Amino acid sequence: MSQEVTLEDIVSLCKRRGFIYQGSEVYGGLAGTWDYGPLGVALKRNIMNLWWKTFVEDRDDMLGVDAAILMNQKVWQASGHVDTFTDPLVECSNCHNRFRADKIDLNKCPNCGKEKTFGEPRQFNMMFKTKVGPLADDIHLVLEKGFIDMVSQEFADKKTTEKAITLSQKQLDQGGDYVSYLRPETAQGIFTNFKNVVDSFYPDVPFGIAQQGKAFRNEISPRDFVFRSREFEQMEIEYFVREDGWQEAFEKWITDIEAFLRELGLPDSKVHKLEVPDADRAHYSKRTIDFEFDFPVGRDELLGLAYRTDFDLQNIQKASGKSMEYRPKDGSAPFVPHVIEPSFGVERAIMAVLSSAYTEDEINGEKRFYLKLPAHLAPVKVAVSPLLKNKPELAAKAREVYTRLKQEFGAVMYDDNGNIGKRYRRQDEIGTPYCVTIDFDTLTDDTVTIRSRDTTEQERIQIAEITNKLPV
Ligand code: ATP
Repeated sequence: MSQEVTLEDIVSLCKRRGFIYQGSEVYGGLAGTWDYGPLGVALKRNIMNLWWKTFVEDRDDMLGVDAAILMNQKVWQASGHVDTFTDPLVECSNCHNRFRADKIDLNKCPNCGKEKTFGEPRQFNMMFKTKVGPLADDIHLVLEKGFIDMVSQEFADKKTTEKAITLSQKQLDQGGDYVSYLRPETAQGIFTNFKNVVDSFYPDVPFGIAQQGKAFRNEISPRDFVFRSREFEQMEIEYFVREDGWQEAFEKWITDIEAFLRELGLPDSKVHKLEVPDADRAHYSKRTIDFEFDFPVGRDELLGLAYRTDFDLQNIQKASGKSMEYRPKDGSAPFVPHVIEPSFGVERAIMAVLSSAYTEDEINGEKRFYLKLPAHLAPVKVAVSPLLKNKPELAAKAREVYTRLKQEFGAVMYDDNGNIGKRYRRQDEIGTPYCVTIDFDTLTDDTVTIRSRDTTEQERIQIAEITNKLPV
């Protein structure tokens, strides 16, 4: 049954059936990076679209943004990430492997097994630092190597080169405009657009701004498949409230999150709310709940819900000199809103969805494995097959039905590989809720066989009725 699923089951299914591959696999891989194959990208989009529909389109208190990944480095200075976005790093003096100090037993190296090989942890900043603009980059390299004279010879105008180098040195000393970071969270792209959105739309408080997109963290030890990656996708909301309204909004978000997790097909029994104690909370947060899930490798964080006070907007106000105050329409006193942040990780949602859907049963004494995905998340909604591949009249009719359904549902697969039994098993394995088979009777009476993934029962229906049977 699904609770016995192992991480290996999930990884092997994902690779075999084209959900998720190791990043740069052909060159030996790059730790902490993953590529989505045809079915993986469909599943991922279905999850992200469901989130967007639930939290943005279906509500009238939410607006969306899509901010740039590269941001002015002042963003990360003001937010505290430059100084404090760190994890404790230790290195084994024997095998030189590096670990997150808070995730291992420091008495014994988990890699070589030798005891007492770790020194004091040092704080490792997880942001990927990068440079914006080619000239500054070249000059930076030159400065690092101290080859100023050599480079000057390559430029006809020595004076210009020296001037550029001096300028660049100055920038370097001051942190440099060209230094940037791959964003470690999408949230700051929301905060920095708070004023823009208010000025364009003037929404009533409470209201939220939502964003989906890539985030990057130079994790010390990426692990457990996509669970801890160095490049991943977040879906975040900053929900702006009056200070005295935060508790009510926080409680409402708990309920909304729980409803969404049910839509993902996650059983309530596997979802746990952890009230994060004072000592473990980020310094700006007055309340945080980690929604944990029973993953195949154990219970761990699926998403977070935090009350971030007015920490971020106040910091932006201080650092930028621009007012982040909201002016109520009724003319009452302006204020800097407080914020509730539900922060979802797409990769962890995918792992939770796959491990919840992974099901084994027995059909006529034969063991069967299938993905019991909610139909609205299934990468393929219906597969269409001719009973026999080598009968042109069956193939032509099957193509006709396939084209018709594809126009309506999009995610329809034409499958004529192997015999019909094998096709059903293959479609079960990727979670396709229904298979439609065209046989010789179809040619005379326009009926097809429709087979359900969950019950394996087959029914004879008119082609015109297929649409009513299928998940929308
Ligand atoms: P953790 O304690 O597991 O490192 P976190 O508390 O640092 O996570 P947040 O900063 O709250 O995570 O990020 C919000 C969400 O983003 C997490 O709940 C998770 O779903 C996702 N996330 C964070 N880091 C990663 C990662 N390295 N790989 C995949 N998803 C991640």
